[in-house]
Amino acid sequence: MGRRAPGLRRALIAAVALVALVIALTEIYRLSAERGSAHLAATGRATAQARASGLASEVAHQRAVVAILAGDRDVIEALSAPTGTRGQALSEKLERLRDAAGGSVLYIVSDDGTALAASNWNEPDSFRGSNYRFRSYFSDAMQSGAGVEYALGSVSRRPGLYLSQRVGPEGAALGAVIDKVDFAETEAAWQRSGGHTVVVDASGRVTLTSEPGLRFGPLPALDEGRLRLVEPVAGTPWTLVMTLSLAEVRRQAMMNTVMAGLGLLPLLSGLGYFLRRRRRALARARAELTYRQDLEREVAARTRELSGEIRERVDAEKRLAEMQGRLVQANRLATLGQVTAGVAHEVNQPLATIRLLAENGQAMLAAPDPAPALPEVAGNLDQIVRMCERIQTITSELRGFSRKAGGGHEAVSFAEAWEASLLLSASRRAADRVRLIAPDIPPGLRVMAEKVRLEQVLVNLLQNAHEALHDRPDPEIRVTLSRSTDAAGARWITCTVADNGPGLAPEVAGNLFSPFLTTKAQGLGLGLVISQGIMRDFGGRLRADPPGPGRGARFHIDLREAD
Ligand code: ADP
Repeated sequence: MGRRAPGLRRALIAAVALVALVIALTEIYRLSAERGSAHLAATGRATAQARASGLASEVAHQRAVVAILAGDRDVIEALSAPTGTRGQALSEKLERLRDAAGGSVLYIVSDDGTALAASNWNEPDSFRGSNYRFRSYFSDAMQSGAGVEYALGSVSRRPGLYLSQRVGPEGAALGAVIDKVDFAETEAAWQRSGGHTVVVDASGRVTLTSEPGLRFGPLPALDEGRLRLVEPVAGTPWTLVMTLSLAEVRRQAMMNTVMAGLGLLPLLSGLGYFLRRRRRALARARAELTYRQDLEREVAARTRELSGEIRERVDAEKRLAEMQGRLVQANRLATLGQVTAGVAHEVNQPLATIRLLAENGQAMLAAPDPAPALPEVAGNLDQIVRMCERIQTITSELRGFSRKAGGGHEAVSFAEAWEASLLLSASRRAADRVRLIAPDIPPGLRVMAEKVRLEQVLVNLLQNAHEALHDRPDPEIRVTLSRSTDAAGARWITCTVADNGPGLAPEVAGNLFSPFLTTKAQGLGLGLVISQGIMRDFGGRLRADPPGPGRGARFHIDLREAD
C-alpha cells in the first residue's frame, strides 16, 4: 500500500474509525439500556410488591369481617326468625360496620338467597330484597362454608370482589354473609401512578385493572419494549401483573449514547487531525528523503563528470605546458643560433690577443737576458688569465642559456641577468656599431624571475632592436630602469628597451603578441609571444608603446622586486 494508494488507505482508516465508533456507541447504548432496565425493574418490583401486599391485606381484612359477621348473634337471630324490624336493625348495624371496616356493601342473605339486610339499605339501588340464589359465591358458601367471586354487580353493574361466609353449621345453613369489596379507588390510584397494573385470577382472567377495557379478558401478550413484573397476592388465587414501558429507559439510553457520541466526536476529530498531521509529516519526510537521495545521486554523477573534466583539463594543461616549454626552448635555441656567430667573434678576439701576448712573452723570454723583460711577461700572463676568464664567462653563459629552464621563479640579481644578455648580444651590436646607452644597475637589485628565462626575454628584445637598427645611419639602443609601487604596496622594476629604428610596422602593432606574426624573411614570429608568456609566469608583464611617427620601438618589462 502506502505510496501507491493513499486514498484507499485513508478510506480504510476512516472505515475502521467509523466501525470503532459504531461499536463503542452500540456498547454504550446497550449498557445504558441494561442499567436503566435493571433500575426500572427494581423500582417497579418494589411498587408491585407494595400493591400486591396492600391488596392481600385488604382481602384478608374483609374476609375477617365476613367471618366475624357469620358468627354474630344478631345475624343468626335475624336469619333464624326473620322479621322486618330485625332486618332493619341488622341493616343499620351493617351500615355502621361498613363505615368502620370499609368494603363497599355488606349484606345478609337467607337460605333461599334473599337479602334480608344490607348496609346500603337506604340507597336507591339497595340490595335488600334482591335474590342472589344464582350467584356462585352464594351457592359456594352454602355448600362449602365460604365463597369468593369477582364479578359485576347484578344491580349496580359495578365490578367487585364478593366474599361470602355461610351462617350456621353445614347441612343446617341459615344463610350467608356477603361482603362486596369495591376496588375502584385502588384501580384509580394505580391508574394515576402510571404503569399498567392488572390482577389475574387462577384461570388467567383479568379482574382488577388500571385499564378498564381489559377487565374479564385474558392477560394481553407482552409488547416489545415492555417489562412485566409478576407478584402473587397472598391469601388469594390472584396474581398482580405490572407492565412497565421501557420507552423512557430507551430514550435515556439514547440520550446517553448521543451525549457520548458528542463527547467522542472532538476526540475522534482530534485523532483524525493527529493522524492527518502524522501522515503529512511522513509524506514530507519521504519526499525530503527522495529529494536528498536524488540530489546526492546528481552530485555524485556531477562529481564524477567534473573529476573526468578536471583530469582532462589537467592533461591538456600538462600538454600545453610541455608544448610551451618546447616552444620556449626552441625560441631560445633559435636565438642561440643567432648569437653564436657573434659569440664566436667575441671568443676569437680574446683568443687572438692571448696568442699575441703568449708569442710576445715567448719572444721576450728567448732573448739572451730575459730578466728585464720578466715584469712585462708577467703582465702578459695576467692579461692572458683575464682573457681566459672572459672566454670562460662567455662559454658558461652560452651553456646556461642553452639549458632548459626549470619553470619556477625566485629572487634573481637583475644586474647579472642583464650582463649575461649584453654579453650574448654583444657581437651583433659591435657588428652594426650600435650605441648602447644603459644605466648602472645596482648590483643588489633583485627581481622575482628565473635567470635563464629572464635573459631570454632581454636577449629577444635586444636582438629585435638590433635587427630593426640594421642599416640605420646612427643606430642607438637606450635602456632605462625605473622603480614604482602599486596600490597594494608591491614594488616594481620597469626596464625599458627603446631603439631609434623604424618603429613597429602598422600591420603588426595591433597584434604584436600573436604567434607567427613577423615582418622578417627569416623570422618565426614567436619571440615576443614567448617573452610575454615568460613575463606572465614571473607575475610580471611585457608591453610595447603604440607606434608613432618618427619614433622607434619601445618595449617595457615590469618585474616584481624581490624583498
Ligand atoms: P621575429 O623577430 O621572429 O619576427 P618577434 O615576435 O620577435 O618575431 O617579432 C615580431 C615582429 O615584431 C617582428 O617581425 C617585427 O615586425 C616586430 N618588431 C619586434 N621588435 C621590433 C623593433 N624593435 N622594431 C620594429 N619592429 C619590431
